[in-house]
Amino acid sequence: MPGRAAPHTVRPAGGMLGRVEGPGITIALAPELRQFAAPARRGGRVPVVTDGAATLGHVVESFGVPLTEVGRLLVNGREVPVSYVARAGDAVDVLPVAFPQRVPGAPLRFLLDVHLGTLARRLRLLGVDTAWTTPDPGDAALAAWSAAERRVLLSRDLGLLRRRELWAGAHVGSTHPDEQVREVLDRFAPPLAPWTRCTACNGELREADKDAVSDRLEGGTSRSYDVFAECPDCGRVYWRGAHHARLERVVDEALRYVSGGSPRPADPGV
Ligand SMILES: [Zn+2]
Repeated sequence: MPGRAAPHTVRPAGGMLGRVEGPGITIALAPELRQFAAPARRGGRVPVVTDGAATLGHVVESFGVPLTEVGRLLVNGREVPVSYVARAGDAVDVLPVAFPQRVPGAPLRFLLDVHLGTLARRLRLLGVDTAWTTPDPGDAALAAWSAAERRVLLSRDLGLLRRRELWAGAHVGSTHPDEQVREVLDRFAPPLAPWTRCTACNGELREADKDAVSDRLEGGTSRSYDVFAECPDCGRVYWRGAHHARLERVVDEALRYVSGGSPRPADPGV
């Protein structure tokens, strides 16, 4: 329901004599998106004067909100594309992406910027296809990589997320790896296959014969463990039972989280 028409909100030029101003509109950011806007623009419905030619996508970006975080744009209650050019009196609502977010056009896979190395290793540990490299290839190369391989770029860098070449992107809010993993699981619900990927290079592990890899094992390892896997891309050898407790914890927590088994208050006795 669009409700009553918004009153004309074109502000007089005031002290801006000589400057041509376009239509006045109002923009309301969903609570999830307000973190990206300047404090003065976070609350409720904010009046804006556009230049009459800018797309709504540009206007939203000028608020500081990367379009990767925007799900739907409503004008007077009706959905419009980011290419929509606002008209006087438009009341715009900017809604966040719906979870879990579907990214059509390619299997779900990610590309992480250089600052998210820990998250990259953890996603690989969970079997999620995750490209990451260091040293930093630079914003232009990352954006081109995202486009070439149709990977969802994950970053905390808003400037990087605004690059036009990106195939898809998502902002990572937390600086803590545990929370970052949960953010990715919440937002994209990627299928998990722990212990199937090389944490060093993202290669898909394959079973390996002990004899074939024995020259890459230390003596104790060779005697103690029987099930081996190797990365065909970098040659690293993995064996069951020798994972660090820390990695086991990452896997256990992720599996419990996606199964809804995270700690909850005990049921009251019935
Ligand atoms: Zn590898």
